[in-house]
Amino acid sequence: MATAEDTAKQPQHEPGTIDLGGDITLLVGREDAQVGLLVSKPLLSLVSKYFTTLFSATFKEGGDAATGKPIKLEDDDPKAVITLCKILHMQYEPSGVSLTSNELLDLAIVADKYDCVKPLALSLRSIFPDTGIYRAPFIDDANLVCASYLLDHPSLFRRYTQAIVKDHTTSFKNLASSGMGQRLPMALWLKLESKRAKILVGITASLTSNMVGHCPYPWRCLRARAITTAQAINMVEAGLLPLNIRSESISTVLEKMAKLKPVHDVSGARACTGGCPTTKLEAQTSYDDLRAQYDTECTGLCLDCVKAGGKNEGKCRIEHA
Ligand SMILES: [Zn+2]
Ligand SMILES: [Zn+2]
Repeated sequence: MATAEDTAKQPQHEPGTIDLGGDITLLVGREDAQVGLLVSKPLLSLVSKYFTTLFSATFKEGGDAATGKPIKLEDDDPKAVITLCKILHMQYEPSGVSLTSNELLDLAIVADKYDCVKPLALSLRSIFPDTGIYRAPFIDDANLVCASYLLDHPSLFRRYTQAIVKDHTTSFKNLASSGMGQRLPMALWLKLESKRAKILVGITASLTSNMVGHCPYPWRCLRARAITTAQAINMVEAGLLPLNIRSESISTVLEKMAKLKPVHDVSGARACTGGCPTTKLEAQTSYDDLRAQYDTECTGLCLDCVKAGGKNEGKCRIEHA
């Protein structure tokens, strides 16, 4: 039986004692940077079918496990396996420094590989950031989307898909063909891409539809002309040029919309006839309502629906907005 001392005798391995009473050592990582982890065989067998099989005597490693010889996990990232084992052995203490999005993705990959997704579920909220990382690079939010998908966590997945749609302009095209992107279905990336585009097109249409055309006689309607001019100035001052909206992130566009002023100062301009529709315009042009509408529309995706390849209503673990 391997003990902590036995592992410590091998100087090339930096032994990590996850479980003081552990009965098996995992050697994680490639030869030159291998880490030995003393862990509990019964515990890992209990939480994961993969480890049950690995430790069972029919396999070579199982044979090794029975004799107490270390088990090699050469293809894995040592840091991720350490975090995984610590969480499973209740030894993980979140420090002041949170894990990077890359480390969280690596953790998700090993948890998925070793069939430890379910036992990890309860711990995820304390180690994953609450929302997307504020103003993080695209790749960070992409890592979080992939990690929450692999860890099968619907509420984290909804948060991170919301962040990646809302806060970025980067296309999902390159991501979809990357090694990481291919871990997730292509349909997901397409869905995120079209969701973002749809909202930006909607905002553009809403902002421009209130301009010219509300009055059937805009060329002789002082009020329609005054409103059109006021709105155009309004948009320019807020930095919202209709043709540019689609190249900005939804967050940025919504922030700029907050700067739009309601068109009140044209109420003095004379309308063309008693039935001029522009007199109703102020009620229609509540930019705050418009902004709230698109903010609400920009929710993240339901993981269960994504995995079911469409609407999975009634069977989803989160409530649909
Ligand atoms: Zn008019
Ligand atoms: Zn759903």
